Amino acid sequence: AIRNARCSSPVADTAVFGRSSAALRKAVAGEGCYLIDADGRRYLDGSGGAAVSCLGHSDEKVRAAVHAQLDQVAFAHTGFFTTDVTERLARKLVENAPEGITRVYPLSGGSEAVEAALKLARQFFLEKGEPQRRHIIARRQSYHGNTLGALAAGGNAWRRENYQPLLVQCHHIAPCYPYRDQQDGESAEEYGLRVANELEEKLVELGPDSVIAFIAEPVVGATAGALAPVPGYFKRIREICDTHGILLILDEVMCGMGRTGTLFACEQDGISPDIVTIAKGLGAGYASIGAMLCQEHIYRAIADGSGAFQHGHTYHGHPLAAAAANAVLERLIDDGLVAGVNAKGDRLVAALTDRLGQHPHVGDIRGRGLFRGIELVADRETKAVLDPSRKTHARVKKAAMENGLICYPAGGTIDGKHGDHILLAPPFIISDDQIDELTDKLARAIDTALT
Ligand code: PMP
Repeated sequence: AIRNARCSSPVADTAVFGRSSAALRKAVAGEGCYLIDADGRRYLDGSGGAAVSCLGHSDEKVRAAVHAQLDQVAFAHTGFFTTDVTERLARKLVENAPEGITRVYPLSGGSEAVEAALKLARQFFLEKGEPQRRHIIARRQSYHGNTLGALAAGGNAWRRENYQPLLVQCHHIAPCYPYRDQQDGESAEEYGLRVANELEEKLVELGPDSVIAFIAEPVVGATAGALAPVPGYFKRIREICDTHGILLILDEVMCGMGRTGTLFACEQDGISPDIVTIAKGLGAGYASIGAMLCQEHIYRAIADGSGAFQHGHTYHGHPLAAAAANAVLERLIDDGLVAGVNAKGDRLVAALTDRLGQHPHVGDIRGRGLFRGIELVADRETKAVLDPSRKTHARVKKAAMENGLICYPAGGTIDGKHGDHILLAPPFIISDDQIDELTDKLARAIDTALT
């Protein structure tokens, strides 16, 4: 009935130019934690797409807020007007942001937010009379977006190689990856300091006066399956940035907006960045929105200097998107959904550990809150990686879809190594029964993919 009512064909036959669009099934409806395709098949959204749909697919409050805004004003160019909804969004974000963050620049998505952050950091040093600063330092296991600047920051060599030379001079250091790199006899804290100190070594090598910023995802998402830092890692990173006068940009596009149990993931690391980017969960799938937030001293350097940040997009600060995001924040903060994330995350980990903890190809189950990853390996004991040419992560995705589960294949990252991660980021409204359904379907998909 759904197929007949809404579209002619259950699979794409299309002029849309997009990744494998011809092979995709058509989504025609959303209901709580499920998406429904044109054949009426239901898919439990175990990854919120890519850590987007934190409220599920049919949130009434967001729907009402967008409708109400549509009845008022849909669009007013930011060169001519501000709107109540955009002002309210900025205030609410600042009230709930890490210490010292006072300004919000609304944008339309994650790559735009990272691009703006890189430009803001650059302009900050120009205003300070330090134009020689050119370099950005990032981490090898990272994704920061697909525009030419953000692409340069991301660690995937294969994503970058066709587009050289890139627009930003970026250098990559090791991520904090205890499962792979923490040595025998080394405590988590010792490991964290050792790996953080790679930033200092890189700064010394480049000359600290030539560096603008260090950018990192607090919990790495799309390239490493919810790779969380060890205690003390980011404290040391913050200290190194301060000692050498470079900015710390945290990319919370994927791990932010409550996904790890606190609105901003970095709250758990006890630090505050100079600039932070958010997107995905801010629109929760109901609006294309992102934002770049910064500390007052960054804003002041520009406001008291040349006067204007040289940036802008036609759709930034879009009232409909801001209305959706305000309702999302109300759901997350005022209705207590973020407060419930850790309990649900613990329940998910318990179910995953129970079902997959002894699986011969499950090397690591990790992450924070409802941002969880599974690293698949050839051998649990040696941690040997699976044959990259088999693309096991992609096979798991396919088998899971056939079982009615959406899970995100985070893989194919560094030189084809360590490439088989599955990312789980279900809606915060997921029930215990749905956690069991997710776990069961995932376990079956992993077995199918590995046979
Ligand atoms: N940064 C991070 C950490 C991301 O995970 C992503 C998207 N996966 C982006 C930036 C880019 O966001 P968008 O796809 O909205 O441009």
